[in-house]
Amino acid sequence: MLLGAHIPISGGVYRAPEKGRELTCDCMQIFSKNQMQWRSKPLSDDDVDLFKKGVKEHRIEETVIHDSYLINLGSPDVELLEKSRKAFLEEMTRAHKLGVRHLIFHPGAHVGSGEQAGLKRIAESLDWAMKEYASHDVEPLLETTAGQGSVLGRSFEQLAKIIELMESSRGVGICFDTCHAYAAGYDVKSSGGYEATMAALDDILGMDRLKAVHLNDSKGKQGSRLDRHEQIGKGYIGLEGFRNIMNDERLEGIPMVLETPGGEKRYAGELKTLRALVRKR
Ligand SMILES: [Zn+2]
Ligand SMILES: [Zn+2]
Repeated sequence: MLLGAHIPISGGVYRAPEKGRELTCDCMQIFSKNQMQWRSKPLSDDDVDLFKKGVKEHRIEETVIHDSYLINLGSPDVELLEKSRKAFLEEMTRAHKLGVRHLIFHPGAHVGSGEQAGLKRIAESLDWAMKEYASHDVEPLLETTAGQGSVLGRSFEQLAKIIELMESSRGVGICFDTCHAYAAGYDVKSSGGYEATMAALDDILGMDRLKAVHLNDSKGKQGSRLDRHEQIGKGYIGLEGFRNIMNDERLEGIPMVLETPGGEKRYAGELKTLRALVRKR
């Protein structure tokens, strides 16, 4: 299993691989810029070189990037939508520069304009971004969400709808977040429930779209729609749930990263806990 964590980029993007390795990560997720700001300094060639060197030296087998939290590709506000689309395109360019293939993003929120309108705007935004960024070496991954408020993406059907509404969805993938899925109502805790969840994912989206997993326990109960992450084993999903995931051969080779509240202080311990759940074959 390819396990890692979300590594902060304080001190420079290029420092992330070393930090990741220290925390026993074999893969990692990063922001390519400050996730709470629209503007960002361009990545310098030095930063990029050092980052790529670090990835090799510290044997980070795969990196994924999470986009800025400000971006809403489903916004009904024309100005905000325009700003979001441009920022998303920039995220794709930055990922390309860093040699990262997968860009994870929350699909968007309809902010009162209705689900169908929101889903359509997200599809149009993606079509636009992928047309502008024509080289296809960076693939956007729609993340499953908890469905808090007007946030879209709580069901596989909603994600499938976005993909279906796109002119060309080639290269669009999925990131499965365990906390979000559980909070949105999917059972990932019982082994039967987990199997049913994965069967639905395969049926509605196709397993081949699944390119990344966020490993988070949940502070909220199943179906609570609360997007509140908990440390592995301390939330409602519990070790029972993560045992399903750690022994699912379909997830072999897919980057799976922690985004848990303890952060860097806890990651190594949590990864150890997860690795111990893998049954000997
Ligand atoms: Zn996530
Ligand atoms: Zn979350």
